[in-house]
Amino acid sequence: MIVMKFGGTSVADLGAIERLIAIVRAARQAAIQPESPDWRGPVVVVSALGGATDRLLGLAAEAGAGDVEGARENVRALRGRHLEVAAIIGHATERKEVEQFIRDEFDDLDRVVGALGVLREVTPRWLDAIAAKGEILSSRIVAAALTSHGLAASWVDARRAMVTTGDHTSAAPLWKETAAALSANVDPLLAARRIPVVGGFVGATRDGVTTTLGRGGSDYSAAIIGACLGAGEIQIWTDVDGMLTADPRMVENVRLVPHLSFAEASELAYFGAKVLHPATILPAVTKNIPVRILNSSRPQDAVGTLITRERPAGRGPLTAVASKTGVTVVDISSTRMLMAHGFLRRIFEEFERYRTSVDVVTTSEVSVSVTIDDGRRVPEIMAALADVADVTREDHMAIICAVGDGLQTDPAFVTRLLEAVEGVPIRMVSQAAARRNITLVIAERDLAPALARIHQRFFTTEGAS
Ligand code: ASP
Ligand code: MG
Repeated sequence: MIVMKFGGTSVADLGAIERLIAIVRAARQAAIQPESPDWRGPVVVVSALGGATDRLLGLAAEAGAGDVEGARENVRALRGRHLEVAAIIGHATERKEVEQFIRDEFDDLDRVVGALGVLREVTPRWLDAIAAKGEILSSRIVAAALTSHGLAASWVDARRAMVTTGDHTSAAPLWKETAAALSANVDPLLAARRIPVVGGFVGATRDGVTTTLGRGGSDYSAAIIGACLGAGEIQIWTDVDGMLTADPRMVENVRLVPHLSFAEASELAYFGAKVLHPATILPAVTKNIPVRILNSSRPQDAVGTLITRERPAGRGPLTAVASKTGVTVVDISSTRMLMAHGFLRRIFEEFERYRTSVDVVTTSEVSVSVTIDDGRRVPEIMAALADVADVTREDHMAIICAVGDGLQTDPAFVTRLLEAVEGVPIRMVSQAAARRNITLVIAERDLAPALARIHQRFFTTEGAS
């Protein structure tokens, strides 16, 4: 059985939901082949209609600030949009039922908005109750849409499937309870050959109070559900083809990464490979369930990117090269550090005090260099360290991060990488013991040519030697 998660853009409008239906139909047909080892499913997990969550949270804030009219305007717009999309449900009785459900949900929201306008306060608990409506509605619509297109689906209210802590706006799953809820509410549907459709992002406490898993939480829902039900694969259907070998705005001829390890995906995420947040799929990876990223607007030719615990052997050393600009390098040198203990702690204390997070670190016996993204508090940090060290800063720097599990087994990789960027002044080099990545810090102006040369060397046939 597979879990198929569709993000906001994959359910944004009638056209998107039509494509979703075709994609689920193909998966269903594959599942019911006689030679298929598992005829159950798929389980479908959906996000709210694209942009709906932002709008719901926005109107909650408006109501709380006393702008009830503004909030009501947004309620009307959202109501209209959901009713429009419900036209996808071909079956008239089913459609009327869903339309009534939509109206009831928005009538309720309208009352909440009025109340919040009086209270002038939006608690996290209210934010969850409001934001959850996005997925509750989208999942109800998609379930009916699938059924009316000949795919017997059943809506599963996520509040009966996902049991969480009461940490509103960032609740954590309660595993035992969620597994029990899923076997009570989803397993019987699968056994009856129906397609369960669940809203992502949403859950409820043991007492039934609505919660959410935090922004972008639908991937997490899919991974939790897949892990609990023992899915064979989790598919994340989104609006990009998958992970790429480099940032296409920086490098020409980038390629799709067909397969990478979870650890590699985690390294790349920091550099804004925003396809998914790796932490959200951890439950699946821990259980050794493959996660595949696929493009819902091009289902035919999309091979997607597969993420598994281990990367397949026998590939080139490098999986992708990531980069980041707008970086500040801070150099701290002091002869006092010579043979002294506690010096690093002293330095990092100041970064902590000024809430500045450090990304790359290199050290020698008498100096420490760090990179930071947010240089706003650097003057204070420099002042605080002035009596123990010489501190300098350099802005407009860039990070290049060459990522690949294969680096571990290629002793010559660093040499080849440095050869590829020969002539480019390198400010910092870092390779951790795990040897999954090599990080270079260079000037921003050198970034594009350096990336192009690395990409050419390791990802194109002309470059490979
Ligand atoms: N709809 C939620 C959000 O926009 C959850 C998700 O789409 O993953 O954050
Ligand atoms: Mg998302």
